[in-house]
Amino acid sequence: MYKKLIAFSIAVVMMVACTTVPITGRRQLSLVSDAQMMQMSYDAYDQFLKENKLSRDAQATAMVKRTGQRIQRAVEQYMAANNMSDQLQGFQWEHNLIEDDQVNAWAMAGGKTVTYTGILPIAQNETGLAVVMGHEIAHAIAKHSNERMSLQLAQQFGGQTLSALAGAQPGVAQQLLMTAYGAGSGLGVLKYGRDQESEADRLGLIFMAMAGYNPQEAIPFWERMEAKSGGQAPPEFLSTHPSAGTRRANLQSYMPEAMKYYKK
Ligand SMILES: [Zn+2]
Repeated sequence: MYKKLIAFSIAVVMMVACTTVPITGRRQLSLVSDAQMMQMSYDAYDQFLKENKLSRDAQATAMVKRTGQRIQRAVEQYMAANNMSDQLQGFQWEHNLIEDDQVNAWAMAGGKTVTYTGILPIAQNETGLAVVMGHEIAHAIAKHSNERMSLQLAQQFGGQTLSALAGAQPGVAQQLLMTAYGAGSGLGVLKYGRDQESEADRLGLIFMAMAGYNPQEAIPFWERMEAKSGGQAPPEFLSTHPSAGTRRANLQSYMPEAMKYYKK
């Protein structure tokens, strides 16, 4: 009964506050404005950079920035060609490499990405890195953090917008924002849903292909990731993503679509 009620209230809210993910066309709930989400993201990102160490490896740093920018430009061109540039409004792209052994990478709303040096041995080269960054940039383009927070608003607060909640219960709204960006448990651990992860995989392949990276390299990349995690608890980057077998099958099924965007 309770579940049905939630489904019903989400359905009602969807009719009034809804956006569409580029390319996949999936409709998603949006109860938080992009401006709010980005402001939060930019504050959290600056805070993160203050508290963490940038890599001093100039070559690796340049590769991360170059890869991020290539993917970013390809996405910008695609959005412009399809009259969707307004969806990138307010984006303040930034790509940084952090000195940290964690096998991890993440992106925040508005195009702020972080790659950890610990993932570079698995990436092996720029194309491998493009698999990682394509996936993370896809989360930002598909506005998954906004959606995540909107679902929470729908489930816990009857579908109020973030602004309405902040007016009525500022403390609660603040708490919700903090949780969204995993404050307290370390940034970048925003938990996306399984559907969002699959969507980021699909869009990630397309985005890397648009930027001129061969999307087929994603298959061996995820195999290396899987081998790295073998037996033990999977690295953080894997734990929030689909299981290896499911992911491989999904990637294969997305490949023909991605190859259409691949310009060598
Ligand atoms: Zn992901």
